[in-house]
Amino acid sequence: MNKQLEQFASDNYSGICPEALEYMIKANYGSAPAYGNDEWTQKATDYFRELFEIDCEVFFAFNGTAANSLSLAALCQSYHSVICHETSHIETDECGAPEFASNGSKLLLAPGENGKLTPQAIELMVTRRTDIHYPKPKAISITQSTEVGTLYSPEELLAIKEIARKYNLKIHMDGARFANAVAAMNKSPAEMTWKSGVDVLCFCGTKNGMALGEAILFFNKALAEDFDYRCKQAGQLASKMRFISAPWLGLLETGAWLKNARHANQCAEYLEMQLLNIDGVEIMFPREANAVFAKLPAYAIQTLREKNWQFYTFIGVGGVRFMCSWNTTQARIDELIRDIKEAIA
Ligand SMILES: *Cc1c(COP(=O)(O)O)cnc(C)c1O
Repeated sequence: MNKQLEQFASDNYSGICPEALEYMIKANYGSAPAYGNDEWTQKATDYFRELFEIDCEVFFAFNGTAANSLSLAALCQSYHSVICHETSHIETDECGAPEFASNGSKLLLAPGENGKLTPQAIELMVTRRTDIHYPKPKAISITQSTEVGTLYSPEELLAIKEIARKYNLKIHMDGARFANAVAAMNKSPAEMTWKSGVDVLCFCGTKNGMALGEAILFFNKALAEDFDYRCKQAGQLASKMRFISAPWLGLLETGAWLKNARHANQCAEYLEMQLLNIDGVEIMFPREANAVFAKLPAYAIQTLREKNWQFYTFIGVGGVRFMCSWNTTQARIDELIRDIKEAIA
């Protein structure tokens, strides 16, 4: 049971990083008020406000599906729609939860290279119909870094902000790998979010090294009205909240959130460099964060699976996804590369 499963399937296969675990254990000293009325939660939410340089409203949820769905529901009425990329997690991997949580707000899917929405695609979605029979576009959802491991550049974010302003659309950011984006971009969290027009960010702690827990940050505070009730009704209010907020504080206060993300990005960069040297392997998307997507021959994928390598082949447009995380090691990457070379030869 304790055999190490070293893998490239997902950053949510990895365990809890030492900093998050240390703070979880610290929070286990004695008793504390329930439902987020404790000191850890106060400190963690204050830290987010400091880090993002703005007085935002902060909430916690157990997972990303809940964070995305509930925050989108806060932006929309049931007759509204959300414009998102066709490969977005809210469309492909949340079992209809955004529609469910919003009582029917429809997702409008737009295409776009490298997993990214463009202002043109958004505008087309908004303007192709303006009649009462079409669910009124109300929000744009972007994922940073994207489902295919790419990044929206500052210029791309600003262009989306412009189009959002033009059509009075709110911006939701799925930050399942927001830390990896910050680590890669050399921009402040503020510049990458509210200064780029983002109204609400779902900031993932799970993939960054926590056991569980997502932070939902409303930069547009008016949109957070009654959000605490929405979370409670949806079964997302943790009574022992401190065991989500304390590990978050651990990640933030020690800088582990960035250290973990940088490490994962560097591992992916190293993996990509090795893959580029192998004939028969093709990199599918610009490698900009902690994921590498590659086309491998079917027989090679089969051989790797037989050797018990773990990776996904179902994301987006096919190919193999190798995801790196805080506990990926270079030695393990070298072993993977060796096996890929053998499998292809
Ligand atoms: C992992 C992930 C989520 C959250 O998924 P949960 O399983 O609900 O925690 C959200 N968005 C993206 C892009 C993800 O990769």
